[in-house]
Amino acid sequence: MMTAWLLLLAGLLGLAVGSFLNVCIYRIPLEQSLAYPPSRCMACQRKLSWFENVPVLAWIVLGGKCRTCRTSIPAVYPLVEAFTGVMFVWAAWHYGPGWMLFSRLLFGCSLIVLFFIDLHHRILPNVITIPGTILGFVLSFVTPPGWVSSLIGLVIGGLIPLVLAELYLRIRKIEGLGMGDVKMLALIGAFLGWQLVLLTLALASFMGSIVGVGLIVARRGDMKLALPFGTFLAIAAMVAAVGGDALIAWYMTLYR
Ligand SMILES: [Zn+2]
Repeated sequence: MMTAWLLLLAGLLGLAVGSFLNVCIYRIPLEQSLAYPPSRCMACQRKLSWFENVPVLAWIVLGGKCRTCRTSIPAVYPLVEAFTGVMFVWAAWHYGPGWMLFSRLLFGCSLIVLFFIDLHHRILPNVITIPGTILGFVLSFVTPPGWVSSLIGLVIGGLIPLVLAELYLRIRKIEGLGMGDVKMLALIGAFLGWQLVLLTLALASFMGSIVGVGLIVARRGDMKLALPFGTFLAIAAMVAAVGGDALIAWYMTLYR
């Protein structure tokens, strides 16, 4: 019974945090304040009433449209809120109260914001990656993988891609990995440790090539069209955070 209440609380908190993540996704690339002005309709600029700010529910009740100007509100907004809510419930159930829960939720929220900002703007803002890397390292003193693995992880995440990016630039004369990707890898390394940041890099590269080849086959894009690698990194890091240890353990059994 106690657990059910705790999970409900986690879900409600997650929905509210998801609503804040939408604000981050929309405003950080525009370099706007997160606190002011309060939420407005993006089309008619009218300030939203309290009930229009209720996560997920407001969007459903209003039929996905602004109450006054009838402009469609993209479904991605309630989806971010719902996904964050589910993530909070799952994490609360899986980790239980404690530093690990706090660390994983902070990490998950950063990944959600980076996923969408990179998808829409092809940037990975320093205001998320740099403080995120520091917090990830600090939290590793009280959570797995421990500070040694976290430190190696953030160096591997930052250093190896930096060398690769430099080589890529010299050989192909084009920028393969941006500095934003490198900083995001350092963030992932700080939170997950060195084994899982390498797994993340491998998974993201694999996903990126599958989608890239798919786009070329479908003639929807050409080789020069840069895919937002941070978007793949975000998905891969979530997979690594949830199932990475199991995946590595399974992989090791293949060589026994
Ligand atoms: Zn409006």
